[in-house]
Amino acid sequence: MSIGSQRAVVCGAGGFIGGHLVKHLLAQGVDVVRAVDIKPLDEWHQVTGSVENLVLDLKNRENCLAAAEGATSVYQLAADMGGMGFIENNKALCMLSVLTNTHMLMAARDKGVERFFYSSSACVYNGDKQSSPNVAALKEADAYPAMPEDGYGWEKLFSERMCRHFEEDFGLQCRVARFHNVYGPYGTWDGGREKAPAAICRKVIEAKRTGKHEIEIWGDGSQTRSFMYIDDCIEGIRLIFESDIHEPLNLGSSELVSINQLVDIVEDIAGIKLDRKYNLSAPKGVNGRNSDNTLIQKMLGWEPSIRLRVGLEKTYNWIESEMRAGAAK
Ligand code: NAD
Repeated sequence: MSIGSQRAVVCGAGGFIGGHLVKHLLAQGVDVVRAVDIKPLDEWHQVTGSVENLVLDLKNRENCLAAAEGATSVYQLAADMGGMGFIENNKALCMLSVLTNTHMLMAARDKGVERFFYSSSACVYNGDKQSSPNVAALKEADAYPAMPEDGYGWEKLFSERMCRHFEEDFGLQCRVARFHNVYGPYGTWDGGREKAPAAICRKVIEAKRTGKHEIEIWGDGSQTRSFMYIDDCIEGIRLIFESDIHEPLNLGSSELVSINQLVDIVEDIAGIKLDRKYNLSAPKGVNGRNSDNTLIQKMLGWEPSIRLRVGLEKTYNWIESEMRAGAAK
């Protein structure tokens, strides 16, 4: 499906990735007919005036039908989610996103939508394969046998499966990407739903501003992850959406760092050194997780490549300017 022929709806457009996606699709010449989110407009991370912005709860089937009206493509990013602190403490809320995914898939089928993009997550992967910081990068096949992150991960895996069967049984073309930790400007950096890169930037900036040169780190800091800059995520969505790949695909960076190394980089950007306090009872997630990009390289000849240092510098500067402006989200 070519970019130019789409009439697109972005669900979860008031969120971090959805807000960037609306802007990017428009820049590519896509007719974005609608941007939808449950949050009041003044809480959206980015609002694009030239599209119809609707505040709707997409757990409700009628609202999904209204959202899908007249669209050829749906980008389904709406989900109740956040960083480890949120998903470990709100498993039922995370699982209720199944209503959004179910009703959006049904609405897309019933309204004759041609293609459906679904944002899955690396949290679908079997926990047993992520028990060591020196983890082998996760291949797509490692989602089975299933033992995903409790709550959030189970819902994502189930909804991936629903996409597969809506395609097989109803002919709705579905494309599924498993995002691995996305970060960048216009992301959540405060309030409990923020993820590690934004949280660490905020803590380092706070330490710099207050002169209290200390930082709290969740876990012992040895846990490893990879982090994908938002521009790579958006480019990956475009490539996967336009492709003929019917299986879920990793969309993540393969630049593995420990949380301690992430703090090193942010300290370097800020030009300070902090005394690290490790909170061993805070949620820290799996011990190690990385994205194996063999399949995306093979299928698309592309993988995320923006270096963490480069993306973090932009993110740090943006959070610093937000904090200066006192605009906490
Ligand atoms: P986000 O929380 O910033 O955006 C999600 C948006 O969905 C929010 O604005 C929220 O208000 C909206 N939403 C929630 N419930 C809704 C409902 N019932 N009706 C309408 N809107 C609703 O998150 P994000 O980082 O932009 O993530 C987008 C998608 O990517 C999500 O599906 C998420 O699970 C997935 N994902 C993100 C990451 C990441 O690192 N950011 C990693 C893996 C997967």
